[in-house]
Amino acid sequence: MKITVIGTGYVGLVTAVSFAESGNDVVCIGRNKKKILEINGGRSPFFEPGLDEAITRVIKNHRLSVSDELDKYVAECEIIVLAVGTPTVNNKIDLSELKEACRAIGIGMRKSDIYQVIVVKSTVVPQTTQDVVLPILEKFSRKRAHTFGLCMNPEFLREGSALIDATKPDRIIIGQYDNKSGATYAKAFHANKCPILFTTLTTAEMTKYVSNSLLSTLISFSNEMSRICEIIPGVDAVDVWEGLHLDGRLSPVINGKKIYPGILSYIRSGCGYGGSCFPKDTKALYYFAQKRHIKTPLLKSVIDINTSQPLRLVSILKDVLGSIDGKRIAVLGLAFKPDTDDIRESPALTIIATLLDLHASVVCHDPQVYKHGIPMGLTGMNVQLAPTLERAIQNSDAVVLVTSWNEYKLITPRVLKKLMQKPLLIDGRRMFNKRLFEKNGVTYSGIGLKPQQPSL
Ligand code: NAD
Repeated sequence: MKITVIGTGYVGLVTAVSFAESGNDVVCIGRNKKKILEINGGRSPFFEPGLDEAITRVIKNHRLSVSDELDKYVAECEIIVLAVGTPTVNNKIDLSELKEACRAIGIGMRKSDIYQVIVVKSTVVPQTTQDVVLPILEKFSRKRAHTFGLCMNPEFLREGSALIDATKPDRIIIGQYDNKSGATYAKAFHANKCPILFTTLTTAEMTKYVSNSLLSTLISFSNEMSRICEIIPGVDAVDVWEGLHLDGRLSPVINGKKIYPGILSYIRSGCGYGGSCFPKDTKALYYFAQKRHIKTPLLKSVIDINTSQPLRLVSILKDVLGSIDGKRIAVLGLAFKPDTDDIRESPALTIIATLLDLHASVVCHDPQVYKHGIPMGLTGMNVQLAPTLERAIQNSDAVVLVTSWNEYKLITPRVLKKLMQKPLLIDGRRMFNKRLFEKNGVTYSGIGLKPQQPSL
């Protein structure tokens, strides 16, 4: 099928590549000429495992091209997918990018005499597709609904494994304005074997928010439990989670083998969720409910716990180190999770800002985030960006682990003892083996563990 995807961000580009990989002819529409050139040259403007190789493949076999000529391509495509940003601004979902793109699509649709289906892939609060997108499309295309199709297809990809998630999804949810819309769009997924669930537009919108709210709730629940563990001598939340995960209802035995489902990765101690989805989507849903006089105290707590969770790590550091004033602190990991260079709403940003307020000298490391330039979220922050992990750790008073990058597994007690005078590791993701570090002369503390003063 001929598909246009609007947006060259994490969702737009990955969706375009994934549709192209499954044999569709895809044009991805961007606004930034430099980015467009980069992608057409086979390189993603952001880091995502396997994406450069996949882009090169689909550009080479002419399945994908990237352009800024929205008008031209919208007119000739059967499917037009909206993958533009929908941030939460001042407690409300900001639909300005979506509305602008809908106006442009509507104008482009005027020149087309084929049946076209417009698909909202951006995350939008319930009723947006019906009450905001549809009227704009009708007005600017000068066509009535039914003469064109409309779908809402929430995206569930996770940054860091976006390509696999998009090419091999576990489910496809198609909210449809009418049966013809859904049936036409479903043809784009001819290569996918997973279940396709057809729903109303609003059910599809709501499913995405419920999914992100559940995962956020598990994370905040785990972090609240971790806070209780932190005041009880002899309790380590990591052991508590291990005991919990062994529950056969959470990790069933199938064909004689214990299965640990992916959902368990959300039931662990950490320094909070970040990224471009959970924080903004939980807030957008909370305010959506508030506005309609629905009380959602659980959702409110989930958001509040998460807002304060990065500060727990700084508190633990303070408890162990005493004063932070003038101390050199190595913050390891800036991305909100491993395998991405995305720092939107990353707990690292809150942790760094708090450390700077406490007059620490902060040196950061991340394997990807500033590899090709300093992202906007970091400009203006008075921090050093270390060229190597070793340079970040060297001579620091404490190492604070924020993102569990695989590269950080190279950190051993021997490395810390070689590079630091008094080795101190504060583990925000509980990725290291506490006993191994303690046994080998490193002061170790972290989320879910009662902070202990270093032994003299
Ligand atoms: P993003 O900010 O990385 O990308 C959005 C892109 O759209 C930007 O590059 C912007 O320039 C472009 N854009 C906006 N208006 C445009 C126009 N008129 N023409 C061409 N390009 C235009 O955002 P994202 O992370 O890709 O997310 C997009 C949507 O998908 C959001 O609604 C988000 O909530 C949702 N989502 C994101 C993820 C994720 O992991 N990032 C996962 C699932 C759903």
